[in-house]
Amino acid sequence: MVEFGRLADLCRRLRASPGRLVKLGLLADYLRALPADAVGTAVAFLTARAFPASDPRVLGVRGLPDVQRSAVAANAAPAPLLTLGDVAAAFAAVAVAGGAGARRTRDELLRGLAARASEEERETLQRIIAGEMRTGVSNGLMLEAITRAFGAPLETTRRAAQSLGDLSEVATLAVRGGAAALAASSARPGVPLLPMLAQIAEDFEEVLEAQGGTSALEYKYDGARIQLHRDGERIWIWTRRLSDVTASLPDVVETARRELGAAPFILDGEVLALDAAGRPLPFQELMRRFRRVHEVERLVREMPLTLHFFDCLMADGHSLVGEPYARRWEALAAVTGGRHLAERAIVTSPAEARDFLARALAAGHEGVMAKDLRSAYEPGGRGKRWFKLKTAQTVDCVIVAVDRGSGRRSGWLSNYHLAVRDGDAFADVGKTFKGLTDQQFVAMTERLWALATSDEGYTVRVRPEVVVEVAYNEIQKSPTYRSGMALRFARITRIRDDKAPEQATTLDELRALYERQFATKGRSV
Ligand code: AMP
Repeated sequence: MVEFGRLADLCRRLRASPGRLVKLGLLADYLRALPADAVGTAVAFLTARAFPASDPRVLGVRGLPDVQRSAVAANAAPAPLLTLGDVAAAFAAVAVAGGAGARRTRDELLRGLAARASEEERETLQRIIAGEMRTGVSNGLMLEAITRAFGAPLETTRRAAQSLGDLSEVATLAVRGGAAALAASSARPGVPLLPMLAQIAEDFEEVLEAQGGTSALEYKYDGARIQLHRDGERIWIWTRRLSDVTASLPDVVETARRELGAAPFILDGEVLALDAAGRPLPFQELMRRFRRVHEVERLVREMPLTLHFFDCLMADGHSLVGEPYARRWEALAAVTGGRHLAERAIVTSPAEARDFLARALAAGHEGVMAKDLRSAYEPGGRGKRWFKLKTAQTVDCVIVAVDRGSGRRSGWLSNYHLAVRDGDAFADVGKTFKGLTDQQFVAMTERLWALATSDEGYTVRVRPEVVVEVAYNEIQKSPTYRSGMALRFARITRIRDDKAPEQATTLDELRALYERQFATKGRSV
């Protein structure tokens, strides 16, 4: 039994010790003293994750519900000590809670946990849920602590972390099998790696800045992700969620045998299905190919696939996971002989990047990916090494409230609360202060004051009358808004004086747009 209180206590001590070396010592001592089966969970929690990095589950809550102290005190029998296992089990139950009443179930589970926790434990739970420990424990420091706790060479641990993309897994391997297990964990044909993922970006200025002034742009193909492995005569194909689809894609297997290098390799790419006119088929159609197990040959003829590889994680039997993108691309070009590659360009200015994006869109693709030439492949990682840029879509929202501006915008009502129609009511889906000119801000401020229904000091509520066209890059599920939906990177593109609030986008339409995002990019694959 491992007390959760010990972890909370460690967090307090980490916070109180600014020195890196002291933190390292505290972490290593703590990990070393744990039973092997608790190490993975402890590493996840200490790095502010409810679940290990390669575990696709999410909590779907933003915080711990408030518990009344009196409710805790009134609990006659003292609650049993909270263990790491209790917390992990509660998180697992929260993650699977679904359907009607899911929010209540989650709330009850977390409330139960909070009621059993001490003040310090509650704070730690809260930080894990919020995804920020504030203990100064970076992934790098955790890696060193694992190294020190279990006596493996730093380089071996680092390589394992690069190929597994999950420090919990690394720590578990280290505690159970030491350096030998870590060394054996590097990429191997026949063992799929979690695909590296991309973060959404709004513009190329941000991308170039984050990537040191140079980015490799590639078309973002609207198909399905595959990972292709070869070892001698054996070929394997996995989906993004790591299901084995080799048997359904004999044509891809054949292409790999005939056209790609003979030495062991692992390639990452996107597969597209084309119709007779050469246009990409919708994602659901392509999925018929992936799921097919009988009469595969007929579908192979009816729905030929095209391949676009964009990464190489192993060439000539050597793992390239830790190598920079530029080096991996060279290896990719060698393995493929330059065939079936993603279209790409290296750019150093936003103008060049915009040209490339225009080309991608003109060719019918959904956007571009921007990759850092210096970056290693991070299995399962989603960060600023890979960005995706798509074109914006728009919806018509109604302004239902507005925050007072500050700084340059002080005096104006400038941060607009945007809502869609939900029956006779309006449901908030985001806020924005972007898109209007100074002149428009002034006019809008005057207009909204005339519609004000209440002034809460910072926020002024207004009659829902002004309709604006809002561009966004993605619709997300949101626990913040009652609507359950939020617009990512919302900005106003037009004031729709020609539209009445009754003509604004509805919540149902927004939900459909949300679902459509997955129609082209599989959630279930
Ligand atoms: P998203 O699913 O919107 O997060 O976008 C990431 C997905 O885009 C990847 O998982 C791939 O399936 C797909 N994709 C298409 N083209 C590329 C590319 N050139 N590089 C990386 N991913 C790509």
